[in-house]
Amino acid sequence: MRDVIIIGGGPAGATLARLIGKELNTVIIDKKNRDEKITTFKKPCGGLIAPDAQRSLARFQLQIPNEVLANPQIFAVKTMDLQTDITMHYQRFYLNVNRHRFDSWLLSLVKDADVIEDARVTKIERITDRCKVYYVKDGVEYTEEGRLLVGADGADSIVRKTFFSKKIRQYMAIQQVFFAQQAKPMYASYFDHTLTDSYGWGLSKDGHWIFGAALPLRESRISFDELKKRTEFEGLDRNAPLYTEACLVNSPKSIHEIECGNKGIYLIGEAAGFISPSSLEGISYAMDSALALARAFKTNNVSKHYVKFSRRLKLKIFLKQIKSIVLYTPFLRKWVMISKIDSIDLVE
Ligand SMILES: Cc1cc2nc3c(=O)[nH]c(=O)nc-3n(C[C@H](O)[C@H](O)[C@H](O)COP(=O)(O)OP(=O)(O)OC[C@H]3O[C@@H](n4cnc5c(N)ncnc54)[C@H](O)[C@@H]3O)c2cc1C
Repeated sequence: MRDVIIIGGGPAGATLARLIGKELNTVIIDKKNRDEKITTFKKPCGGLIAPDAQRSLARFQLQIPNEVLANPQIFAVKTMDLQTDITMHYQRFYLNVNRHRFDSWLLSLVKDADVIEDARVTKIERITDRCKVYYVKDGVEYTEEGRLLVGADGADSIVRKTFFSKKIRQYMAIQQVFFAQQAKPMYASYFDHTLTDSYGWGLSKDGHWIFGAALPLRESRISFDELKKRTEFEGLDRNAPLYTEACLVNSPKSIHEIECGNKGIYLIGEAAGFISPSSLEGISYAMDSALALARAFKTNNVSKHYVKFSRRLKLKIFLKQIKSIVLYTPFLRKWVMISKIDSIDLVE
């Protein structure tokens, strides 16, 4: 029997396994394969490492290897309010990465835990003092049993759905990838309250243009197509994407929607609801919540200490909720944009 079974080997699961693997007999079960040529699953993502995530990596003394970085690097965001037609530019400090390679790199740092890849968890049972996890790999069903279970399995968490009833606000994130020889220099964000109370984005990555948006679950594809029509595509054929990808994304409306777990079953990263509701930046929260749980595992009351150690993250999300009100309320956003606070004037 394992001490800890972690479901999901994204930034949250990989970080936790790296931190606890030496002391606790740990296994990660993940549906993707680190080899990008054969994997059947890649996490849809903008792949921007925000300053908070850079800070988390710095705290772990980790430096992103060159092969994880993508082209070009981004220093500004072009913010477009499609309803008022106002466009402003702001300085930003992102690292542009290949998300699959970023996750694979974090998993490669896990030295003291077992990693089972290409394995999809289909069912979990609690049996008195342990959990039994069923997963399918190469068409065959296997099981693992563990004293502690951690759901690091993202927005559509099977652990959260099986054991916890707390609801969280969700959007459908849709991204389309276009071939684009000419790198567009900026990251763009699009706001249109008639289609979504979240936002859309566009960015260049390794000779491609990624156009994406987080949309209300109802009629998300129709809203996505409409948003695409309303944005400039600068010479690209908006009807000829190379491929389309979609997944749920959590966006906590209140910190009460965050579920940390209890009694031997815990949630970290986006599965718990640790993600910024204003920007949907989730990589720093994934790593920081993993650190909070790893520290709690060293105590004699994990549930109590995990809640305590993740208080700072909840406070951060609360502050992002206040920022969301300004960002996603049309007249407040318009006011901020026309005030030109913090904006950059472009030189042609
Ligand atoms: C379209 C989009 C764009 C985004 N862009 C950014 C961005 O640019 N920057 C940023 O910081 N954040 C971004 N986010 C948010 C960010 O991707 C997540 O918050 C972050 O990845 C959460 O990390 P995690 O480890 O908690 O979960 P995830 O990264 O979602 O990892 C979950 C892991 O669990 C595995 N898994 C799930 N279910 C199962 C199962 N049943 N069996 C086995 N394995 C399973 C998956 O393979 C995956 O590896 C974006 C999100 C979306 C949807």
